[in-house]
Formats: sequence, C-alpha cells, structure tokens
Amino acid sequence: MDAKHLSKRMQAVADLVPKVEKLADIGSDHAYLPAYLLNNQVIDFAIAGEVVKGPFENAVSEIEDQNLTGKMEARLGDGLEVIKKQEAMNVITIAGMGGELITSILDEGQTKLNQNTILILQPNVDENTLRKWLVNHHFKITAEKIVLDSSHFYEMFKAEYTDDQIDYSQVELDFGPFLVLEQSETFKAKWQAKLEKNKFILNKLENSNLKPSEKIKRVKNKIIEIEEVLNGKS
Ligand code: SAM
Repeated sequence: MDAKHLSKRMQAVADLVPKVEKLADIGSDHAYLPAYLLNNQVIDFAIAGEVVKGPFENAVSEIEDQNLTGKMEARLGDGLEVIKKQEAMNVITIAGMGGELITSILDEGQTKLNQNTILILQPNVDENTLRKWLVNHHFKITAEKIVLDSSHFYEMFKAEYTDDQIDYSQVELDFGPFLVLEQSETFKAKWQAKLEKNKFILNKLENSNLKPSEKIKRVKNKIIEIEEVLNGKS
C-alpha cells in the first residue's frame, strides 16, 4: 500500500470522507490516507497525528515525498491533543486500531469535538464498544461499510452529531445499524465465520472438565444472536 494505491480497507475509509477543508488523521503512521485525500482534492489541509516517534517520522517523510509541505502537518502527540483548540477540524479519521483504543482517544479528546465534527472510524475489533460511545455522546452513525481485506473483515463508519437521543438496540450496536439492514454478502460471510468460531468454542467448553457455566451461557447467547441476525429474525 502507498498513498496512490490504498489497501481495500483504507480505500473504503477514504470513500467515506466527504469533500471538506480540514481533516485530522489520528494514528496516521505513513499518512497514506491524508496524502491520498489531498492528492485527490477531497480535502485542502490535513494534520497527521502520531503518538510514536517512528510512525511520526514516516508521516514526515511522506509529506516530503509527496510534496505536501504546507498542505499537511505531521504532529507528535497523544490522540486528539495534536489538534489545537481553535482549529476545529471538519473531519477526524481514526483507523486501524482496536475499538477500545479509538473510544479512549475520543473520550479523552472530547473538547476537540464539536457539533460539526464528522468522525470516520475504522476499528479492527470491538466495533460495538465504539458504537456505544458514539450513541452516548450524541453521535449518530450515518454510513457504514464492511470489507474483506487480506483475510480480515473490517467495518468502518461515519458518525455525525445529532441533538436527538439515539437508541440503538443491542443488535444494532453489535452488527451495525446499516450493515444489519443491508445484509451484504461480506457481512454474511463475517458473521457465518463468527458463528462457526463460537460453535467451536462452545464445543470445547462443554467438553472441558470445568464446564464454566457463565462462559458457556455467554457463548450460547452469542450463537443465538448471530443465528437470529443471519436468519433475518432480528
Ligand atoms: N491509521 C493507519 C492505518 O489505518 O493503516 C495506521 C494504523 S497503525 C496499526 C496504528 C497507529 O496508531 C500506530 O502508528 C500507532 O503509533 C498509532 N497510535 C496508537 N495510539 C495512538 C494515540 N493515542 N494517539 C495517536 N496515535 C496513536
């Protein structure tokens, strides 16, 4: 992957970004995403935020290599602290990390969010934790995608502020409000694979000496939830 040839995952994230002026990509590493968006005139200015020196230097090199000096700034810092209070970014992207980490970055950086901030998020795991945080902070999911890239399923979503109280069901939090309605082939393949994995785990637990009842109950409930979604009963 590079800024001209994004991976399938990164392209799906890029496709969710609307045409805006300013974007901050947090945990940017090589800054391929903002470089691609600048080169394709989707955005005019980008901050590439990184908390680790090595990836930060990757972003600095990418700015030089792509002649993006003046259009993109690499900034070293934790989460949203790289955004100055007065900057008010139109879009914040956070991709390629666990849902728990993205959630904590948003939670700690709440002062950098406002009612016009558009969030484009791509958690590698724990998507439901992140959706729950969004709901609790008046961010409504307005678009969602799922892709299979290098044998891994990735979900990415756009979230925008709303005054309304949002009330997603547990199924919508776990499976995605748009994805569960759409039931794409990729969505079905992801959850079929999860179903099989959970059935395998259940079999192991039931045949173990300990037979941990709480864990067995949890896995059984997950199996029921997935089967109901795949059979269109939710
Ligand atoms: N966003 C790119 C992508 O989707 O391909 C890079 C993902 S990379 C796996 C995750 C990056 O997030 C790492 O470079 C890591 O240093 C950075 N990161 C982790 N925690 C961070 C934080 N709190 N603030 C800023 N960057 C962070």
